[in-house]
Amino acid sequence: MRQVAIYGKGGIGKSTTTQNLTSALGEMGKKIMVVGCDPKADSTRMLLGGLAQQTVLDTLREEGADGVELDDVMKSGVHQISCVESGGPEPGVGCAGRGIITSIGILENLGAYERDLDYVFYDVLGDVVCGGFAMPIREGKAQEIYIVASGELMAMYAANNICKGIKKYADTGGARLAGIICNSRKVDGELELLTAFAERLGSQLIHFVPRDNIVQRAEINKKTVIEYEPECAQADEYRQLASKIDGNDMFVVPNTMTPDELEAMMMEFGILEAA
Ligand code: ADP
Ligand code: MG
Repeated sequence: MRQVAIYGKGGIGKSTTTQNLTSALGEMGKKIMVVGCDPKADSTRMLLGGLAQQTVLDTLREEGADGVELDDVMKSGVHQISCVESGGPEPGVGCAGRGIITSIGILENLGAYERDLDYVFYDVLGDVVCGGFAMPIREGKAQEIYIVASGELMAMYAANNICKGIKKYADTGGARLAGIICNSRKVDGELELLTAFAERLGSQLIHFVPRDNIVQRAEINKKTVIEYEPECAQADEYRQLASKIDGNDMFVVPNTMTPDELEAMMMEFGILEAA
């Protein structure tokens, strides 16, 4: 069983990419569980055709620790993908990162990982500033980390921070950077920039996912692109990403960059004007 985490800055496209990618892996016959680790609890919505999933933390609050059953918190989506949302604490109270730790613990106790699975995917919010969100990395829950980024400075800044987290826990948790996924924002020179960025980190740009409005149309219809329009070019992009991940064996402890190096790299590719 491969345990994969998808990280990246908020709004970069982690949940969209994860759901399309897992749907494509599902098409290939892989058995998958997706665990949403974002208090927004929107990591599995399209896999479930819009069904609002009851989160692990809500169920825990309502039923108590002994009252949570696997069927309450795990729903079967397209291609029989098992869908779980960790959820979050009540807004303003408690730490969302801790909630992830609690949720994964509950899933383990309920035997969620003891089923016949090829992949577990964690869709994890934000960059690794809070220890809780680093948990899948720190405790070796995820061995393979993919970072969704684009050619925008903040997205690359977050990606670099996530690499710092991977590096920090590389010995204890064993997680490795497995690749950068570019989710295009149509920035000038984006492919070249992200290719160079990934190489500088000692990793690879595993796939360049184009920006396409079909993603929005599918989303509004509560479906992945693969389900909404299986024949379209964007669906094939996600299939390519899926087969590259399925065949990937490039797992590294990343190098990291200083903010100055990052900005210099962006200038080199013509993104930023020198001040
Ligand atoms: P995250 O999970 O990283 O916060 P989301 O997956 O929710 O980000 O994506 C944010 C928005 O960007 C979504 O509304 C989605 O429709 C849009 N989006 C993501 N990827 C693409 C793409 N390749 N083309 C067009 N729109 C996209
Ligand atoms: Mg998300």
